[in-house]
Amino acid sequence: MKEQIYTIPVMDAFKEDSECPVCILERNLENHYIDFVLGPSLMEPSCRMETNEKGFCRRHFELLYNKQENRLGLGLIIDTHLRELVKTLGKRHGRIPIFKPGKKMAAFADDFVKLLSVIENKCMICDRMNYTMERYLDVIFYLWSREDEFQHLFNTKKGFCLKHLKMLLEGANKYLSARDSHVFIENLLNMQLEHMERIQKEVNWFTEKFDYRNADAPWGNSKDAVQRSIQKLVGHCTLK
Ligand SMILES: [Zn+2]
Ligand SMILES: [Zn+2]
Repeated sequence: MKEQIYTIPVMDAFKEDSECPVCILERNLENHYIDFVLGPSLMEPSCRMETNEKGFCRRHFELLYNKQENRLGLGLIIDTHLRELVKTLGKRHGRIPIFKPGKKMAAFADDFVKLLSVIENKCMICDRMNYTMERYLDVIFYLWSREDEFQHLFNTKKGFCLKHLKMLLEGANKYLSARDSHVFIENLLNMQLEHMERIQKEVNWFTEKFDYRNADAPWGNSKDAVQRSIQKLVGHCTLK
């Protein structure tokens, strides 16, 4: 049996009714890390070293700030991260030659751009989430190929968001035998297309409801069809 620490969240997420069970795993993980960064990580020297070095991406800075909790803690993290960043950039800047106008400055700017691109792609929360999502994926395929109950549960879902559909298709080749992978992909794509059609109809009915002739017709499942269809297209996002 795979580690329970990953199996239980996977089972729970697949038991919930949703447009994408993998998004539930991702959302719970993200909430966990946001709380972790604003809480216990502050007292952990190894975590502080990691946040000093990596910082966060735009999405995770936004979530950390919008949580409106522990502003002091967030301030402390940003303070030491900025210090380290100034040091790194300053060191690079110290190597600037005294130039005459010309090629050297262009090459120097190029070098700086490369460094900024590396910084831009660093995020402590994204890194940890990627690691755990890969473990979850491993567990999904393990359970699918060994537990009938889970395979049945998987096959009765409403498909996935496109991001996680891609992740599952890639994972099938990595984690399953050629025979299993064939069955898995066929089922997955049938389920996905059926439910993309279903959600398209739900959004369509949402728009039709704005026609005065349909004012008294029932909403059906369409009241929140816009939110759910956005999730189907781009995955878990923070819609108000
Ligand atoms: Zn998803
Ligand atoms: Zn991030």
